[in-house]
Amino acid sequence: MSLLAVEDLAIHFGGVKAVDGVSFEVEAGEVFAIIGPNGAGKSTIFNLISRLYEPTRGRIHFDGADITALKAHQIAPLGIARTFQNIELFDHSTVLDNLLMGRHIHRRTNFVQDILFLPKVRREEREHRRRVEEVIAFLELEHYRGKHIAGLPYGVRKVVEIGRALALGPKLILLDEPASGLSVEESQDVAFWIEDMRRDMGLTVLMVEHDMGLVTQVSDRVLAVANGRPLALGTAAEVQADPEVQAAYLGT
Ligand code: ADP
Ligand code: MG
Repeated sequence: MSLLAVEDLAIHFGGVKAVDGVSFEVEAGEVFAIIGPNGAGKSTIFNLISRLYEPTRGRIHFDGADITALKAHQIAPLGIARTFQNIELFDHSTVLDNLLMGRHIHRRTNFVQDILFLPKVRREEREHRRRVEEVIAFLELEHYRGKHIAGLPYGVRKVVEIGRALALGPKLILLDEPASGLSVEESQDVAFWIEDMRRDMGLTVLMVEHDMGLVTQVSDRVLAVANGRPLALGTAAEVQADPEVQAAYLGT
């Protein structure tokens, strides 16, 4: 059975059919990419899966459960983490604190219980820090650990945004244009990390990306969308060769 299944998903904003009948399944351990021109509905698909938007119709299944009716805050504890196309970090906090804040969604915040179960809380806190240190080492962020986000180069902030999602310890990570605005070298690092996420962390990756070099390098399968509708599904080479996909990119 697939880890994520999206079935006839649609959302209409007034007259705009941002997503209009998209279905796909992502297998556990797969790297799956969604491509398409600007405004195609890619980020909206992520907002629907992460339950920030209410679908007009359609179902979303994750790990054997129907998550269509869940609230956004219930998604991360299930094992879905995401990055945002426009980086969503706390600018005036450090890299370390941003990564720890991500973790604290796992934490109960009941003061009385915290006092009664102090050893357990301490153990959980150690577990948060251990996971965050793993992420810092994985993404080679040691040098930036104590620095504030606001003072960091764009490329480093992009990496911390991935780290914030990884710190949650997800099964499925949604990456919204992880390589946008990055140099060729930085994009290559992202490609290696995606491959390592799958191989070493056992993660399933769903990404939106314009850089077809990166998509071709890391993706098992690619779904092309335009105007909220699916155009083609296959390998990166198959999808790029599809006449409808080529026409969509030319705006014809
Ligand atoms: P992509 O990520 O593929 O570039 P988006 O998913 O961001 O595209 O947007 C798809 C379409 O949905 C666009 O026409 C966009 O203006 C519209 N849209 C997205 N979010 C909203 C919203 N909250 N309200 C109104 N329209 C929206
Ligand atoms: Mg987008």
